[in-house]
This record gives sequence, C-alpha cells and structure tokens, in this order.
Amino acid sequence: MVKFKVEHHKEICIGCGACAAINPDDWVMEGDKSHLVDSGKEEGEHGTQEFKIVDEAKLAQNQEAADACPVPCIFVKKVGG
Ligand code: SF4
Repeated sequence: MVKFKVEHHKEICIGCGACAAINPDDWVMEGDKSHLVDSGKEEGEHGTQEFKIVDEAKLAQNQEAADACPVPCIFVKKVGG
C-alpha cells in the first residue's frame, strides 16, 4: 500500500497557525510552533524535525496544510507502494 511521510521542519516553523486551522486532526499549536500529532523525531536538513507515516486517507488534508504553510516547513513525500 502506498504510504506518505509527512515532515515538519520545526526549527524553521514561524507558528502562523495555518496548518492547525486547516487540519486540526494532525496539527496543533504548541507555544510558538506547531506540532505534528503522534509524530516521531529525526534529524533533517533544518535540524530536529517531526515526522509520521500516513496512508492515502490522510494525504489530502496534510497536503493542504503543506500547501498553506508560508515558509514552507511541511513536506509530504511518497514512500513505498
Ligand atoms: S503552517 Fe507552517 S509555519 Fe505555520 S504553524 Fe504550520 S508548520 Fe508552522
């Protein structure tokens, strides 16, 4: 089954709140940054980032959040399939 990796490059998040407004199932505001709900942590190009693997049912709402992010610091990547 095709899966998607949602990444939040949290170090460069400006805390605008767009992701949490669009997709409150997966994004919440936490202090001056957003947080990707039920995510793990890993090191990436912008330092420590959050990530989680979602299936196709959660693709649209996370892609919409990524598209709305002004930085951008949300990335959705296809994995496997
Ligand atoms: S939309 Fe982007 S910059 Fe705004 S809070 Fe969400 S992740 Fe951060």
